[in-house]
Amino acid sequence: MKKIKYLIAKIAGKFALHGTKLGKGMGKSFPGYLFLKIASFNGLKKLAKTPKYGSIIITGTNGKTTTTKILIRLMKNEYKIAANYESNTVNAITTGLLNDNVDFGIFEYGIRDITHGIPDKIQELVDPIGVIYTNISREHTQVRGIKNKFEDYLNAKSLLTKNMKKGIIISNGDNPYTTYISKNKEKEAEKEGYNLKVNYFSSTLNLEATDKKCPVCSKNLQYHKYENDTLDCQNKNYNCDCGFFKPTPQVKLTEIEINADRWKFKVIGNPYNYFLKDKFRFNFTSDFPPIGLHNLNNGLTAITAYASFTSKPEKFEANVKKIFSEIGEDILPSGRFEIFEVKNLEDKSQKNIKHVGLGQGDNGEALNVNVKFMKLIMKNNNLHFIYTSPDDFEEDIFDDHLKAIEEAKPLKVSVLPGRTSLNMGEKAYNIIKKMYDSEFHPIVDQNERINKIHEIILSSDMDYVIASGCGEEQKMWEAIKEKVRKKFMIESKDK
Ligand SMILES: [Zn+2]
Repeated sequence: MKKIKYLIAKIAGKFALHGTKLGKGMGKSFPGYLFLKIASFNGLKKLAKTPKYGSIIITGTNGKTTTTKILIRLMKNEYKIAANYESNTVNAITTGLLNDNVDFGIFEYGIRDITHGIPDKIQELVDPIGVIYTNISREHTQVRGIKNKFEDYLNAKSLLTKNMKKGIIISNGDNPYTTYISKNKEKEAEKEGYNLKVNYFSSTLNLEATDKKCPVCSKNLQYHKYENDTLDCQNKNYNCDCGFFKPTPQVKLTEIEINADRWKFKVIGNPYNYFLKDKFRFNFTSDFPPIGLHNLNNGLTAITAYASFTSKPEKFEANVKKIFSEIGEDILPSGRFEIFEVKNLEDKSQKNIKHVGLGQGDNGEALNVNVKFMKLIMKNNNLHFIYTSPDDFEEDIFDDHLKAIEEAKPLKVSVLPGRTSLNMGEKAYNIIKKMYDSEFHPIVDQNERINKIHEIILSSDMDYVIASGCGEEQKMWEAIKEKVRKKFMIESKDK
């Protein structure tokens, strides 16, 4: 009886997968939804055995989608894969698993907190052989009016690997929280004697903010600068009196050379490989389109994951170089931060040229990266910051945002509510106005806000304008970009 139910579910799901024209976005989750409706979670457990080798799940606060997209390209070059991204649910994962004759399933999975996700259930049902932690930082800590503690969020993220007893965790060694989860798993694996490995990656870019608290004892972590700093971004080590410290990474991005058309980077590694059941070494230079430092870090994450699961280590270098040479800006999600060179066509003297950085920075880490990217191209300090604030109960996000604003050292700040809370926008403004020449625009209507931000960008007399922070939707940023594009001749620095 059970078997028949499973077969019916699979047929129904596959019919939806191949046969129906679904609304935009629905095709990513509807077939899985249908399957789960009929076969329930028990059916998913069976379905999860479809990929020949198993599944890889990507989670974290930032960079999930871009990392997943790059990893898909690397893996596709060698394997048949089923994948799903941008749709972060169990339905979407199930939809991906409805594809037959694949070697690997590759799925993005977002975890907000325990009540709005089922990370432990996903782990049990999908039984992944790889879990990737991109990074963990504070983000929207309020969901439907309920404030969530960061500890709960961290705990929810750890549940995705809590009962994992085989395979490889790919973890961001620069991030103390992903490191904390992974170190606990390493200890446990050693004690219990199961074959679970961790491959840490670390980047000389180190875009992480260095004001984090120790995940073990809550004291402030101590950060130490390495000597071989490059650019404005320092490679930093962290440790704590309690004994917690940055792990030795298995894969490192060690050098980067910024050029207008391509960025060159060097990657060295000695990671554990799933098929070799051993480590293998590499050391080579490759290149990347100039689409933002954080995206290069996502590339490093994907390289580490691919190194963990390639069955052809001898061809690893050649394969990475081949795929990276083909990467363009199509890997980027919408709403991303971009820098434009804006020229006023009505001004014949062409003096009115400014650089405008635009795009979402929903949490402290994301805004910090946007600021660092902006500072890379700035030749003076004439910076106007257009900041969009978070919602009620998201004070901790504002705290992180404020650090990024301080790092930017703007001469002028315009504050607007980024989401629905006028109150939080005002709170943010009252703090910011004590530090900078500021103005407040109390606008919560999205269209009005888009128009206002556009207007401020155009009328600003600064050489550099950055507009970032929280937005109701990614489309808010896309809409502003579109307006800026229409009015001015634009040369995207991001291309
Ligand atoms: Zn500590």
